[in-house]
Amino acid sequence: MKYALVTGGSRGLGRAVCLKLAKMGIPVLINYQSNVTAAEEVKTLVQAEGVDAELIRFDVASKTEADEALACWEAEHPDDYIAYLVNNAGIRRDNVMFMMPETDWHEVLDVSLNGFFYVTRFLLPKMMMRKHGGRIVNMASLSGLKGMPGQVNYSAAKAALIGATKALAQEVALRNVTVNAVAPGFIETDMTKDLPQEELAKLVPMHRFGKPEEVAALVGFLLSDEASYITGEVISINGGLYT
Ligand code: NAP
Repeated sequence: MKYALVTGGSRGLGRAVCLKLAKMGIPVLINYQSNVTAAEEVKTLVQAEGVDAELIRFDVASKTEADEALACWEAEHPDDYIAYLVNNAGIRRDNVMFMMPETDWHEVLDVSLNGFFYVTRFLLPKMMMRKHGGRIVNMASLSGLKGMPGQVNYSAAKAALIGATKALAQEVALRNVTVNAVAPGFIETDMTKDLPQEELAKLVPMHRFGKPEEVAALVGFLLSDEASYITGEVISINGGLYT
C-alpha cells in the first residue's frame, strides 16, 4: 500500500493536506512534534473518510528522531511504502536581523531546511526503487521568493528549500519521482494569528488571507497522477500578492 507522510500534519496547512489526502483515498501518516490532541483529531477526521491514518511523532529537526520513527514504521509495514511526502513542518521566529538571537536563526533553518533534508533523504531510496516512483511537495513561502523584512531567517530557509526542490527534481526525474514546492502568501493558521490580519489583507489584491483548504487543494493536485509531468516547479498561492 502507498502511504503519504505529512510533516506538521497536526495543525494549519498540514492538517488541511491530511484531510485532502483522505478525500483522495490515500492513507496518511500524520507527523507532529508536541500537540498530540490536535494530531489525534486529524487522525479521527481522516479515518471518518474511511481512510487509514497513523500518528508518527518526531521532531523533523532531529535526524535521530526522524530516522528512528521512520525506520520503526517501515519495520512494522514491510509491504508498504511512503510514496507521497509533504515537507510541511515549519516555524517562524521573526525579528530584525541586527537583533536576532542565534538560536532563532538556527531553529528556523533546522526545522524547514534540515527537516526537509533528514526526512526526504531517508525516504528517497525506497521511492526511487519503486516502479510507481513518488511525489514530494515542499512547503515554501512567499518569503522565500520575495524576501520579507523581519524574516531573514525564515526567508533564507524557504529560499534554500526552493533551491533544493529544483536541484532534487533534476536528480530523481528519471526515477519517476517529482519534486515541487508551493509558496503560500498569508494563510489563516496558528502561524499567522498574531499578525494584524485586517491591515495586511489590504495589501493582498484579493483583500483577504487564504484558507488552508485552498493550499491543500494545490498540494493535492501536485500529489495526484494528473501532475505527473510537473517537476521542479514553485507554485505561488497568494491572492495576487506577489507574481
Ligand atoms: P502552524 O499552524 O504553526 O502549524 C505548524 C505545524 O508544524 C504543526 O503541526 C506543528 O506540530 C508542526 N511542527 C512545528 N515544528 C515541528 C517540528 N520541529 N517537527 C515536526 N513538526 C513540527 O503552521 P502553518 O501555518 O500550518 O504552516 C505550515 C507550513 O506552511 C510551514 O512550513 C510554514 O512555514 C508554511 N507557510 C505558512 C504560511 C501561512 O501564512 N500560514 C505561509 C507560507 C508558508 P505541533 O502541532 O505538534 O506543534
